[in-house]
Amino acid sequence: MSEIAGAAQPAQPAQPAQPAQPAQPAQPSAPRRASRCDPAVVRRLRTAVHGPVLVRDADDDAALQLEAAAWNLATTHRPTVVVGATCAADVVAAVRFARAEGLAVAVQGTGHGASSPFCDGVLVTTRRMAEVTVDAERRTARVGAGAVWRDVVAAAAPHGLAPLSGSASGVGVAGFTLGGGIGLLSRKHGFAADHVRSLDVVTADARLRHVDARTEPDLFWALRGGKGSFGVVTALELDLVELPELTAGAIVYAGEHAATVLHTWREWCGSLTDDTSTSVALLRLPDAPMVPEQLRGVLTLHVRVAHLGAQAEADRLLEPLRSCAPSLVDDVVARPYTDADAVHRDPVDPSPSWELGAGLTALDRDAVDALLAVAGPTARLPLVVVELRLMGGAMGREPERPNAVAGRDTAFSLMTIGPGVPALRDAVPAAARAVHEALSPWRSRTTLTNWLGHLDDREAVCASWTFDQQARLRATKTLVDPWDVFSHGHSVLPSVSAADLADTELLGEPDRLGAPTAVGARYWDVHQARWARRRQR
Ligand SMILES: Cc1cc2nc3c(=O)[nH]c(=O)nc-3n(C[C@H](O)[C@H](O)[C@H](O)COP(=O)(O)OP(=O)(O)OC[C@H]3O[C@@H](n4cnc5c(N)ncnc54)[C@H](O)[C@@H]3O)c2cc1C
Repeated sequence: MSEIAGAAQPAQPAQPAQPAQPAQPAQPSAPRRASRCDPAVVRRLRTAVHGPVLVRDADDDAALQLEAAAWNLATTHRPTVVVGATCAADVVAAVRFARAEGLAVAVQGTGHGASSPFCDGVLVTTRRMAEVTVDAERRTARVGAGAVWRDVVAAAAPHGLAPLSGSASGVGVAGFTLGGGIGLLSRKHGFAADHVRSLDVVTADARLRHVDARTEPDLFWALRGGKGSFGVVTALELDLVELPELTAGAIVYAGEHAATVLHTWREWCGSLTDDTSTSVALLRLPDAPMVPEQLRGVLTLHVRVAHLGAQAEADRLLEPLRSCAPSLVDDVVARPYTDADAVHRDPVDPSPSWELGAGLTALDRDAVDALLAVAGPTARLPLVVVELRLMGGAMGREPERPNAVAGRDTAFSLMTIGPGVPALRDAVPAAARAVHEALSPWRSRTTLTNWLGHLDDREAVCASWTFDQQARLRATKTLVDPWDVFSHGHSVLPSVSAADLADTELLGEPDRLGAPTAVGARYWDVHQARWARRRQR
């Protein structure tokens, strides 16, 4: 931690970056956290931005809170300034302002991934940038940073096409995709990030860059999997796939059948081709009127299935699951892809949740027994969801355009979710950690970035990628954002120490990032040496 850029130095105001001019040599200083800004500077920002510019503790404080509100109600952001961006130029203005004021920048689309509060600095909200254009001939969609999957699914379906969306269509395309992104089509087609052709991103030098495999290969690689570490993405160009014939839904069992169902499901997973996706959740839903009666206040098992094929074929496949125990609900039927939310039935309305995920290398009999012992019918847990998803298939294969997606080698993902409310502040994390601890013998070294949940230690976040990925991500971070302007959320750390950064010749000019030069190569050496030392310890 002490080796991050500027950590050993007192914070200094950074130089405003001028997009059209050669970049300034970087200052080895982390952005300061400021609770107030000069009103005259804010007035200038307002004239440069088309969307709202809201300031904390000023007359527009209530509007700021509304604008900054996250879907995950457990997290309350309190930024110094919020910029409601309407276009890439607004984002450029916001980042330039933040750099001039020496402030950190965070970005929020929907707040589904809001795992930690962003309390000082400039929050850019993107929800006004939700345009989606489908090019049916090229089978692509150009998607604004504020679009949610529902927008893309609806725009693509009339053309017989579909995006690599996830379990809930209200989730933001940008955050989901930059973190990897898994969904019902992923075993067949891979991660959402594998299907990104290009991105427009405003980096910490306040430049809008069009990034693809040809223009900026390192940054293109790093953005697709490196989440929000490198800038504010303003638009993405995504591949679409052929709209699948889909038989999908869920089978729900009473908790008393947990052992039988989980063991059957585990064995069944081993028989599936890439055309079938599945997950199982141990659900402990509240005893509340909005919950269907037979699921209220009791443990149930929710087995989700999405088969890319006809119902008769799916019915044959499902026989072992349907015959192992009586079900409370069985709605695995032919559905349009536009109805894919019915498979997981994730919450739609904002709610407070505390999440922690992991990857598993395997799920053998002992792993299922270990899970049952800690989260099965006899356990008393404050966790609403303990979920296993089958990974593998195309997700396990290197994509045509390699990227920084973490967790490609995992066989199953594990996710634990509990209410993010003050009364359970300690109980939920403790219960989640107990589940993770019980499954630690099967834990993979890497974790899907979208599954990191409330992990907020940045060294631990970095450790969720492979060693080689970390080295390349941190090298790219050092080149693109040595100031660590984008430090919020699950972002990687720059890898060069303050002492290294003092050597500005080593740092090079951000403008030169496009060409993988000797500068990049020297960083690469620094990271390799650093990680070699770490491995030896
Ligand atoms: C109900 C629910 C269902 C989910 N289902 C799935 C699933 O099926 N598969 C899956 O893979 N994940 C799933 N997730 C996890 C989800 O993908 C992540 O939480 C993701 O970060 C949400 O992105 P967002 O833009 O909606 O959220 P936000 O909270 O707005 O963003 C989260 C982070 O993403 C980054 N980010 C967002 N927008 C930008 C941008 N324009 N530029 C740069 N960085 C940006 C930032 O780091 C930001 O902090 C689910 C989450 C929830 C709550």
